[in-house]
Amino acid sequence: MSNFLSIRTINQLILRNKLSPNEVLESALNRVEEIHHLNAFVSLRKADSTSPCSTHRNNLLYSVPYALKDNYSSNDFSTTCASQMLDRYKPIYDSTVLGKLANDGAFIIGKTNMDEFGMGSGSVDSIYQPVKNPWTTLIFRQQSCSDDWNITGGSSGGSAVAVATGACTFALGSDTGGSVRNPASYCGVVGLKPTYGTLSRHGLIPLVNSMDCPSIFARTVDDVAIVLDAIAGKDEMDSTSVDRRWGELPRFDTDSLRGCRIGIPKECVVSGMTADVIDTWRWAADQLENAGAEVLEVSLPHMRYSIVCYHVLCAAEVASNMARFDGLKYGHRCDIKESSDAMMALSRKEGFNDTVRSRILAGNYFLLNENRKRYFEQAQKVRRLICDDYNKVFGTNSYVKDADNQRNGVCDVLLSPTVLSDAPLYSDFIREDNRTRSAEQDVLTQSANIAGIPAIVVPTKLSSNKLPIGLQISGSHFCEPEILKVASCLEKLSNFPTLASLFSTVPG
Ligand code: GLN
Repeated sequence: MSNFLSIRTINQLILRNKLSPNEVLESALNRVEEIHHLNAFVSLRKADSTSPCSTHRNNLLYSVPYALKDNYSSNDFSTTCASQMLDRYKPIYDSTVLGKLANDGAFIIGKTNMDEFGMGSGSVDSIYQPVKNPWTTLIFRQQSCSDDWNITGGSSGGSAVAVATGACTFALGSDTGGSVRNPASYCGVVGLKPTYGTLSRHGLIPLVNSMDCPSIFARTVDDVAIVLDAIAGKDEMDSTSVDRRWGELPRFDTDSLRGCRIGIPKECVVSGMTADVIDTWRWAADQLENAGAEVLEVSLPHMRYSIVCYHVLCAAEVASNMARFDGLKYGHRCDIKESSDAMMALSRKEGFNDTVRSRILAGNYFLLNENRKRYFEQAQKVRRLICDDYNKVFGTNSYVKDADNQRNGVCDVLLSPTVLSDAPLYSDFIREDNRTRSAEQDVLTQSANIAGIPAIVVPTKLSSNKLPIGLQISGSHFCEPEILKVASCLEKLSNFPTLASLFSTVPG
């Protein structure tokens, strides 16, 4: 069987007895083995694990293979966040999204590699070694002509690779500042960060509680929409989750954009953006206009402050979240047996990498009594201004609703690049420190997390280096159907290739 089948195709083949759950699982695990050198997985399901229960057969996700980023708690697998601090940690419960997928009969095939605790944008800062981008690495391996490689983006790079290579049909990552959208763009897959609260965070090891979003990778917009529908909804274990589901999303036609207003935020033209990215953006805007949409320039005036605001708020929440890993109650414990203070200090030094430690330090600094007003409270105010910018363009403030209660904004969705270029080379990427890299990599993505709005990345074109470029479509809170509709049109117009042709077909 092909490893690149859609969810609906797998479902139909299984219902007609043309494909068995075991064939699907075997094919996925074979692919995982073939891509071993990309370091995408950190733990794997055993091949002889039981098949999903046949009472699930009617669910669309029955027997569909998926992968989970290693920061979701899972009873059957260790959950390490790619950190020494949680090495060999085995949670005693499953995260809510994992439980929902198991109930639907989906097959988990393994846990995926990431930047330590999700802090990064390259998937290069992991105790399991960097994840490698399949778009060039597979070709290089065939030609064995290079020992450098392109990064996958991050922090959910392992999940993106798992989907791009056909090791699974979909995967979950987490997106706090862009960690799903960034690797989706670099690896040529679809990546959806839903509205904050749509998917339960219960069991997801927190990075920035007020911005963390369980998020979905798949090869098609339709697959992403199916997974979203399966796992969305209120969870009593997460007080920030909300009761929103949209049911199965309708299939979309290319000409269904009539009446849709697509905003092009002028602040998204940032220095360092490559000509390939600008051309792709322009091409997509033209195509969507031809498909019936009205395309117009809009302004988000506070967007240029957003990356700094993100860094302050991220560090502050990280400092507070990471306090639990003290080597006493949780996490790695060092060997020395002096005072508990010394033991905690050394355990944390051994358990965390430099990036995590420096964010903890910065966060505690921002939260000191004498600094709190100047940094933390100031950043909270900037956060409000950024949210207001989005509210204004989408018309989501109550005072701009017109008499019929219609939204009275300037546009319905926004179209922008996701990152400034195609996937950087590893040797170039590691020249800068993690914070500098984040300032560059997250500049167009983290404001959606600050505001809690949904955003999806659609692979759109190949760059002149033959690497993927994905564009980002965002909308107001709970406007998933609208952004999925535009994403689906862009997907049809782009007709972006998969990596299927790089693999020989698995017999079966
Ligand atoms: N690169 C960002 C950071 O390091 C994004 C993190 C994320 O989304 N998990 O904070």
